[in-house]
Amino acid sequence: MNPERKATKSWASALAVLAVLTVSAANAADPSANDLKRVVNEAHAKYKDLRDGKNADYIPILETVPSDLFGVVIATREGKVFWAGDVNYRFSIQSVSKPFTAGLVMQQQGPAAVAEKIGVEPTGLPFNSKIAIELYEERSANPSVNAGAIAAVSMVQADSEEERWNQVLQNMRDFAGSDLELLDEVYQSEYSTAWSNRAIANLLYNYGRLYSDPEEALRVYTKQCSVGVNTLELAVMGATLANQGVNPITGKRVLAEKHVPELLAVMAMTGFYDESGAWQYTAGLPAKTGVGGGIVAVVPGKFAIAAFSPRLNESGNSIRAMNAIRHIAGELGVGLYGANPD
Ligand code: GLU
Repeated sequence: MNPERKATKSWASALAVLAVLTVSAANAADPSANDLKRVVNEAHAKYKDLRDGKNADYIPILETVPSDLFGVVIATREGKVFWAGDVNYRFSIQSVSKPFTAGLVMQQQGPAAVAEKIGVEPTGLPFNSKIAIELYEERSANPSVNAGAIAAVSMVQADSEEERWNQVLQNMRDFAGSDLELLDEVYQSEYSTAWSNRAIANLLYNYGRLYSDPEEALRVYTKQCSVGVNTLELAVMGATLANQGVNPITGKRVLAEKHVPELLAVMAMTGFYDESGAWQYTAGLPAKTGVGGGIVAVVPGKFAIAAFSPRLNESGNSIRAMNAIRHIAGELGVGLYGANPD
């Protein structure tokens, strides 16, 4: 079968399934404030002594972030927030930024442009894979891997690098309802060692799958990953998606309601890179991870769960944050495919 037709078909069926699951999840009874408070505290207490994994070190400065930090937050679509632990510490958002910029591109050019010019298929390969670029005809594969995220930045409609960056930053601020700032030290550390991502940008450009100057896209992408966010702000970013694109704190519409299911589908299929299948299998929620240690998961129509802790597993996903979110999803029975046991 023509691979393009196959991709379109499997994408369409994934969307149909997600639409049905989203409706059934939205119809289930909402957990009470007491339940939300209880599970956040429980998840923090249960995993705070877990010390498996290690900080990312391929971006030198990430190795210096205190490894024991651990925060857990639930933010609801009504703007209520429940938290435990180090939720005010600002860490670099890294790849958790990716779906939000993909949302900006959807807003500007429509979801079909994201599917056609980036792709929406999981790679089954690590986040920085160059093999995936050679293997798949889409090249960039999906907006969650580095290739697709750099392509997404290159698609933001802008006449200059400054305008591109301002739009990316403002969009993240709108999702968070907070004046997020660039962590300049992180940016310098990451950009001065960005040889792998530079190779990705140049490969994509070579294949006609990058839509601006490659070095400009690389710089803006690296800045996007170096934005500082705390766990409370990250939870509000997710709650904006849970609230159909309206920030529950500021009331501002950030993403058209009709694009939210597509963005959540991308997160569900690709948000954990080569562990996306295992994540869906055990937690059953759309989510996005980052090598800074942050993860945000969305229970569509209800709330978001964010967690942060710097120690990562081999796929680049925070071990405590994954466990905390999975525990909460299991306890509340909010997995999209049915209640997962904790
Ligand atoms: N800025 C990181 C990179 O490009 C993001 C990776 C991640 O968070 O998974 O390698």
